[in-house]
Amino acid sequence: MVAALEAIPARQFDPASCPRLVVKIGSSLLLDAAGAVRSEWLAGMVADIAERRQQGQQIVIVSSGAIALGARRLGLEKGGRASLEDAQAAAAVGQVALAGVWEALLAAQGLTAAQVLLTLGDLEDRRRYLNVAATIARLLDLGAVPVLNENDTVATTEIRFGDNDRLAARAAQAAGASGVILLSDVDGLYTANPATEPTAQRLSVVKSLTPDIMAMATGETRSGMGSGGMAAKLLAARMAGAAGIALAICDGRVERPLTHFATHCGGTLFLPPRAAKGRKAWLAGRITVAGALVVDAGAAVALKRGASLLAAGVRGVDGRFKRGDVVAIMGSEGELLGRGLAGYDAEDACKIMGLRNEAQGPVLGYAPRAALVHADHLVLI
Ligand code: GLU
Repeated sequence: MVAALEAIPARQFDPASCPRLVVKIGSSLLLDAAGAVRSEWLAGMVADIAERRQQGQQIVIVSSGAIALGARRLGLEKGGRASLEDAQAAAAVGQVALAGVWEALLAAQGLTAAQVLLTLGDLEDRRRYLNVAATIARLLDLGAVPVLNENDTVATTEIRFGDNDRLAARAAQAAGASGVILLSDVDGLYTANPATEPTAQRLSVVKSLTPDIMAMATGETRSGMGSGGMAAKLLAARMAGAAGIALAICDGRVERPLTHFATHCGGTLFLPPRAAKGRKAWLAGRITVAGALVVDAGAAVALKRGASLLAAGVRGVDGRFKRGDVVAIMGSEGELLGRGLAGYDAEDACKIMGLRNEAQGPVLGYAPRAALVHADHLVLI
């Protein structure tokens, strides 16, 4: 039973609902094979961002596409990646267009775009890193949407990320984000290449980046347009994890990809190593809840002492949550006391509320669990 309950919150350590989120969009999602901007898909993506902003989530975008866009305009071969000089020139031309695309899309939703171009050195040097962090924080405070990219025009081979996956992970740290979503043209990490190996399976959650896991990646990109590939994504996951940040690789090819990610269990979620602490932090920062439990004064006191929430102390059940969903825990005056993962579906919680443990079995028709919300899955606000 404990193992089963453990599995649920692990998957629900959800970057999609953390207070500050970095979303990285790969070149192959921004542009079609001919190099034209995929305006319709992007409009859906920006609608997702606007919706999340309204719910109070702050979003930082990491947008690729400058090199590919510029290469098209300059008529450069190999998508502008034949040489470093080509990539630098393409980025200079493409970044202007890219900034214009984001400005127009965000403005259509009443949002203000802010361009931030970074080099590796900007984030490696402590003083410059703090500067970047302060700038991003100020932009978010002002309600702008930072749109980041590597400053490919001045970055040279030795001192560049080269891929926006790792840039996103590092920038997430600077931005004080607790989650990163890498939207990609692959739907996660597979045990083998799914294109050539029919038995390949997608990993839904990765708790530790062991050598076996690292070996599952190749450096190739499916579209040939970006420069990341799965290897860069795994390095990004490691980088994010070291900073206590959860990272997800998921399929961005669908309409409204953020909504899709939040409502389906797709992609691969990499949990940061300090998951227990991170989970509590995540719970505390959770924006949406599936329901609420109203508790009496005695239970409220017990919770403050670190106890689990017992059904006997629950006076009301609100919402249609499932076991493992996040629920708000409210006091009798309607004040928010905390959040936790429900140990029962709403229906069963209704049946047992107010009942002591020994009275619950006959009502439920099965042996009751020790608590409605276990202390390990509960955080007070
Ligand atoms: N910074 C590059 C660009 O804007 C993209 C890097 C990547 O493909 O991850 O074109």
